[in-house]
Amino acid sequence: MSSSNTKLDSLCDNLEGCKLDGTAETKISDEELFKQPPPKEDCPICFLRIPTLETGSKYKTCCGKTICSGCSYAPVYDNQGNEVKEKKCPFCRTPLPKANDEEQIKRLKKRVEMNDPIAIHNLGLKYYHGDTNDFPQDYDKALELHHQAAELRHANSYCCIGYAYDIGTEVEVDKKKARHYYELAAMMGDVIARHNLGYREENAGNIDRALRHYMIAVRGGFAQSLETIKVLYLDGLATKDDYTKALRLYQEYLGEIKSPQRDKAAAAHERYRYY
Ligand SMILES: [Zn+2]
Ligand SMILES: [Zn+2]
Repeated sequence: MSSSNTKLDSLCDNLEGCKLDGTAETKISDEELFKQPPPKEDCPICFLRIPTLETGSKYKTCCGKTICSGCSYAPVYDNQGNEVKEKKCPFCRTPLPKANDEEQIKRLKKRVEMNDPIAIHNLGLKYYHGDTNDFPQDYDKALELHHQAAELRHANSYCCIGYAYDIGTEVEVDKKKARHYYELAAMMGDVIARHNLGYREENAGNIDRALRHYMIAVRGGFAQSLETIKVLYLDGLATKDDYTKALRLYQEYLGEIKSPQRDKAAAAHERYRYY
């Protein structure tokens, strides 16, 4: 067992709601597991649900807010109603740092010091990918930061830890632990983890359980799960009712996130696509 693995186990003991014990037996009940998790928070500007698709929102290191694509794209006006040409955060009006700017890194680190889970998670990703000189690739550091963010209830951090155990980049492969962390992430609303759980059940031949996971992911806005249910239907593994239900769930999701402002942004740039 590697040192990082040991570190992970001791950290896990401190996690609220983490029921992983030394034998890696999971004790999450189906009732807990298959509950539809609460949606992502609303955009603090337009008050609509934040889209699930990554390009549907942007995290701001200035104020720590996640702003939807529509509000990110919309022009910003000053108090006199004049359009502000200089790029500013639409929420706190702080001038935006340039890409790969020192200022951007400084702001991210400041948010990390403030215990902001998204900033901690993003810093973890920087170490995971090792994309700049400031962040040489360091899997142990990445895992440590993802644990820290997960403790602050950042769902996607649990998914990253699950993935680490799933493929063994940062730790030794442990499929039971991988599943456990995917479950924690899924229960907190992470749709990728939810889809992964569905995929595992499908591969094990448990189509009923797979469908339950996929349906929750669809309602959470994960189009890939809808596509998977369609394939299961075409292959005769899911019923027409299943597929109809999935389509309805996805429409419900779209009803919560669609707005003319977001449509306008998406039409202007692929980087603002939100579903
Ligand atoms: Zn918005
Ligand atoms: Zn801001």
